[in-house]
Amino acid sequence: MQFENTLDFAKKMDHEDPIASMRKQFHIPKHSDDNDEIYLCGNSLGLQPKKTEDYLQYELTQWQKYGVKGHFSGDFPWMPYHEFLTEGFANLVGAKDSEVVAMNSLTANLHFMMVSFYRPTQSRHKILIEDHAFPSDHYAVESQVKYHGFDPQESMILVKPRDGEDTIRHEDLIKIIEEQGDSIALIMLPGVQYYTGQVFKMKEITEAGHLKGCKVGFDLAHAAGNVVMNLHDWSVDFACWCTYKYLNSGPGSVAGCFVHEKHHSDETIPRFAGWWGHDKSTRFKMENSFKPMHSAEAWQLSNPPILSLAAIRASLDTIKEAGGIGELAAKSKSLTDYLRYLLKQELGEDIKILTPESEGEYGCQLSLTVDTHGLDGKVVFERIEKSGVTGDWRYPNVIRIAPVPLYNSYEDCYRFVQILKASLEA
Ligand SMILES: *Cc1c(COP(=O)(O)O)cnc(C)c1O
Repeated sequence: MQFENTLDFAKKMDHEDPIASMRKQFHIPKHSDDNDEIYLCGNSLGLQPKKTEDYLQYELTQWQKYGVKGHFSGDFPWMPYHEFLTEGFANLVGAKDSEVVAMNSLTANLHFMMVSFYRPTQSRHKILIEDHAFPSDHYAVESQVKYHGFDPQESMILVKPRDGEDTIRHEDLIKIIEEQGDSIALIMLPGVQYYTGQVFKMKEITEAGHLKGCKVGFDLAHAAGNVVMNLHDWSVDFACWCTYKYLNSGPGSVAGCFVHEKHHSDETIPRFAGWWGHDKSTRFKMENSFKPMHSAEAWQLSNPPILSLAAIRASLDTIKEAGGIGELAAKSKSLTDYLRYLLKQELGEDIKILTPESEGEYGCQLSLTVDTHGLDGKVVFERIEKSGVTGDWRYPNVIRIAPVPLYNSYEDCYRFVQILKASLEA
């Protein structure tokens, strides 16, 4: 695609974009001048789909009218409500319906998955994660290691980029797995790295891990709703994701979880159980013997918060209307490529892009550092915010910018780069 660095060209791209009209299905926050903000922060908190209010209102009305009978009445009874999200989740991560479930929150699910899939022994007790993992993931892993009586110093392998580089090389990861795999119990990496936007090669990592007898799980917080995945075919053991980033389901909304079908009937796997994981047909006999379902649902504990699931349903329906993750990823690539092109054209010397450029190694997000000498990145970030751009700042020095295919436009990218340029000159 031959891009051009003009507003007319950006508008032409929007005009030709088959899913441009999806933007109208979202509430776009207003800047103080009453124009739409240039909201490039869907990697942190996705915007609210217009369907969400109706879907929530429907459940509030059910509760008003039917009380407890809402569990069995209406078009979306609460008892099986999580099942209304199954197909949407399965399509997003490339899973069978039986392999996905909406439950708990992301970090809670990471713990529950580690209870089942991190089973250290004296000779195989290590967990491979990144040195710069999202802190919650680091804390979760460290506390699991300690819980099993091991020493995090010895049982955590923290992979780093090479000196002077910003992202982890795939070949370095594979080399660690090949060399140390015999002592690694669990490989737990992100699908998309939160700080740099790097997309990891999940299929190859899983293959390399399994060849060495390791379990392999992914944190898909920044991957779900962003990139196309095939967790089932890749034979990934488990994965967890939140729904408030690219899945637009509202702050703190219920998370998603994938457990590969090969584990569904294995009764030797330990699990922290709750009544919602018990066989549906006999759950309400209220008996003491736990009989797990043969699906990812077996890992559920509690009856879920329906208002939050309703927001997820609104979001999944909105994504379906746009044509699904394949359609979104196609636009995302073009939109992000355009943003990168503009940044290089206008600010090649002043802005460094940390996110890898090769095919398959980036999704929506570009992570930028300010390289103009004498200018502090944080100051630049504050200037662009004042001018109507919402991105986000991550210590120590990155501005994360995510053009989201559902509601961002080529014009947003164009205007953002103009504002960034002016902020460097100011
Ligand atoms: C956003 C994010 C989290 C947040 O965890 P919660 O349990 O939802 O608060 C954790 N890990 C990663 C990698 C994230 O990107």
